[in-house]
Amino acid sequence: MKNQLFTQKAYIDGKWIESDKTFEIINPSTNSLIGSLPDLTINDCTKAINAAHEAWLSWKNRPIGERCAIVRRIFELTVQYKNEFAEIMTLESGKPLTESLGEVDYGNAFVEWFAEEGKRAYGETIPSLNGNMRLSTIKQSVGVVAAITPWNFPLAMISRKLAPALVSGCTVVLKPASKTPFTAIALAKICELAGVPKGVFSVVTSKDSKGLGKELATNPLVRKLTFTGSTEVGSMLMTQAAGTIKRVSFELGGNAPFIVFDDADIDAAVQGAIAGKFRNAGQTCVSINRFFVQESVYETFSQKLTAAVEKLKVADGFVSGSQVGPLIDKNAIDKVQNHVQDALRKGAKITTGGKHLEGNFFAPTVLVEVADDALIQSEETFGPICALFKFSTEEEAIQKANDTPFGLAAYFYSENIRRCQRVGEALEAGMIGINTGLISNASAPFGGIKQSGIGREGSKYGLDEYMEIKYLCQNK
Ligand code: ADP
Repeated sequence: MKNQLFTQKAYIDGKWIESDKTFEIINPSTNSLIGSLPDLTINDCTKAINAAHEAWLSWKNRPIGERCAIVRRIFELTVQYKNEFAEIMTLESGKPLTESLGEVDYGNAFVEWFAEEGKRAYGETIPSLNGNMRLSTIKQSVGVVAAITPWNFPLAMISRKLAPALVSGCTVVLKPASKTPFTAIALAKICELAGVPKGVFSVVTSKDSKGLGKELATNPLVRKLTFTGSTEVGSMLMTQAAGTIKRVSFELGGNAPFIVFDDADIDAAVQGAIAGKFRNAGQTCVSINRFFVQESVYETFSQKLTAAVEKLKVADGFVSGSQVGPLIDKNAIDKVQNHVQDALRKGAKITTGGKHLEGNFFAPTVLVEVADDALIQSEETFGPICALFKFSTEEEAIQKANDTPFGLAAYFYSENIRRCQRVGEALEAGMIGINTGLISNASAPFGGIKQSGIGREGSKYGLDEYMEIKYLCQNK
């Protein structure tokens, strides 16, 4: 491949690593081979952690202005290599090229944000009650950070962990998803070019997610674990990290509701629904999973939504105009099919789609009259399926929306300002989209409540995740 960022090597302690043992990375759209990467061992992972610890001892003492300037350079180089990044991302994740280009901008916005926000890690002075002491706080880097990231946003899920960690003075060992590791390696190349010192950022590639995951979650030199992925794996990692009382931040599964009230602008709601449902073929943790539509507008909304879904272009991500690419693998297809079949058995009807196309492609689908006990109500589908439930009152909508152990994103449409405030406060989720299907940006806190996670990424809160508050008590 003629792409300057494409490298079939891992990156540890500033060295490009090869190995006799490798694993293959497959394009989910064509099922063809993209390339292979070293299948590193737990021992290699330990070496990367040791190097990160060594590097931390000097990185944390670099002036913050210098650290921010290096992170700013990562931002600038990423802009320069935007097309190279996007090509690799579409190849390994399958997402349409326009979405990959969008993800480069989105992920890189966090890098730009933290290159600035890093300068504002303020401490405080605290009035001493008896006047005998000088009390103050300073913020210092947590230490070595282990990051484990998923395949659905191969770049952005890394950027928003790496940038705040680096400006804070932390060093990072990353284990990217084994389905999309080339994007992570491309970022390591950019970091090298930007002047990130050796050991400050290492990328360990491996098929052995469980083995390396355990090492990252239990090695005492790692002071913080940040993970984006499933609740199941997050829960296991949290148990492992408990042994050495590590700081954790987790961004886990969701089951986002999207409520359409009778006072909504229905056309706007349809537009929001398409944006919030079909990005990355429905494979995002903030993807709408359950549509709750008030009975008086149910028919209108379902018809307009069906018409909009029918217009979506399903194609390989490199085909011009592609809007919905493949799912990540056959397991994802099986899960989607299972959810559709289950809903149909319980009385739902298909107004469009419902079919497995060839390979890993599934037709964008609308299901109406979905029963409350359908699997799709309780489990995250992670696919291009709109499941429409009906409600009659605002209380019922809120109760149904909150009837899940998850609490990442929730969306609703209403033109009534009092209702907007009321419902926004009542929904149990970390992020609420009001008359919009897209909520995430670098200056806002991204994260979940309940079993959807701990901690926030982006915004000023995203910086605190990588810093400790130290209190200084000085005798006058
Ligand atoms: P998904 O694949 O749905 O995004 P996962 O939680 O399975 O969610 O995967 C997210 C990341 O966690 C990936 O990098 C994956 O390789 C990694 N992972 C999967 N299983 C484990 C595990 N047992 N321990 C540590 N990391 C894991």
